[in-house]
Amino acid sequence: MVRGDGKYLYDSENRAYLDFFGGILTVSVGHCNEKVNKRIHEQVDTLQHVSTLYPTIPMVELAEKLAALTPGRLQKSFFTNSGTEADETAVLLAQVYTGRREVIAFRHAYHGRSQLAMSLTAHAPWRSGPTAIPGIKHAHNAYCYRCPFGMTYPNCDLRCAKDVEELIQTTTSGQIAAVIAEPIQGVGGFITPPPGYFQELHRITKEYGGLFISDEVQTGWGRTGKYMFGIQHWGVEPDVMTSAKGMANGTPIGWTITTPEVAEAFTGLTISTFGGNPVSMSAAMGTLEVIEEESLIDNAEKVGTQLMGGLEELKQTYSMVGDVRGKGLMIGVEFVHENKRPAPDLTLAFMEATKKRGLLLGKGGLYGNVIRVVPGLNITSADAAEALKIMQESLTEISAGVSLA
Ligand code: PMP
Repeated sequence: MVRGDGKYLYDSENRAYLDFFGGILTVSVGHCNEKVNKRIHEQVDTLQHVSTLYPTIPMVELAEKLAALTPGRLQKSFFTNSGTEADETAVLLAQVYTGRREVIAFRHAYHGRSQLAMSLTAHAPWRSGPTAIPGIKHAHNAYCYRCPFGMTYPNCDLRCAKDVEELIQTTTSGQIAAVIAEPIQGVGGFITPPPGYFQELHRITKEYGGLFISDEVQTGWGRTGKYMFGIQHWGVEPDVMTSAKGMANGTPIGWTITTPEVAEAFTGLTISTFGGNPVSMSAAMGTLEVIEEESLIDNAEKVGTQLMGGLEELKQTYSMVGDVRGKGLMIGVEFVHENKRPAPDLTLAFMEATKKRGLLLGKGGLYGNVIRVVPGLNITSADAAEALKIMQESLTEISAGVSLA
């Protein structure tokens, strides 16, 4: 790829692609967004770097803005450079605050590429080597399409959430530091829990004295429509929240926010050379301004509903589309063969077929059989209609078994 402009990416032959993956849910308000880039340019010419040794105006302004935007009592931010570091910071905070070590994470979760983050991650292909960090237990996730208990919502009575209590009672000392969860599992294939799940999970976390960490690396910044953060759909107030990716439209950033008492428990030395970098801070502020000024959370809800509706219709026509799920502009399409057998082959063929027609999509899921549909938050109804048309043509092509040149 050579150039990006709004919703389009251009390759070395100047071919345009409608980008519905945005550099892994990162280019949230369009490539080279004018307003974000203006802020970046101005900041580069004013002050580029001082490290976390000194507070800067962009860092303080962003921290204040985030304290106002986040739910509940989340007030104190610490900035780093990636989602991995944001999650590392969150778990460390929980361990320092509670004086405990054990952490509950979820199967199919993804939290990053450090030793700790890989140990929290529950995808064999994304873990190089054995689990390095002890004290992490993985609960069953709320994967309704493939319920780990073979049950159906709501008759299941949220068995997966309730099982977390038994997991704590039987596989930990009962003294957990934290539960870390994605409101919608991203890399896992946009696995979306049913209503009531997170409330139950939160209740159990509190009962066993842990901090509840919401990993908003993929679900933050209006991506899921209606709210700024994914966890707000479930009416749960996290003790710690993390994000990265779409927060700064493509400029490297990591962010952890918590309550004053948890932040104040951290008294040791800590530093992140590039954390809070003024250019990244300005890019994040610019991105938030665009999201707010252009009402992009509402747009994600509106255009997301249109896309979801169109994909639901395709599911009725094409049996290889097994499940369509998600919220706002975070939509997963799970490809299957007969009896829900995962179809990574069809998923790949579908991606190639849409690419050929100028539409870029993402892939995910433990079995590599989930298409991730995640355009910029500022796409229009016409863009969504164009993408749906390309997806329909691609499904028709694959169904007919036409070979892909
Ligand atoms: N958490 C989640 C939910 C993610 O999706 C990712 C990245 N895919 C990370 C953490 C790690 O982020 P990074 O790649 O910026 O380290």
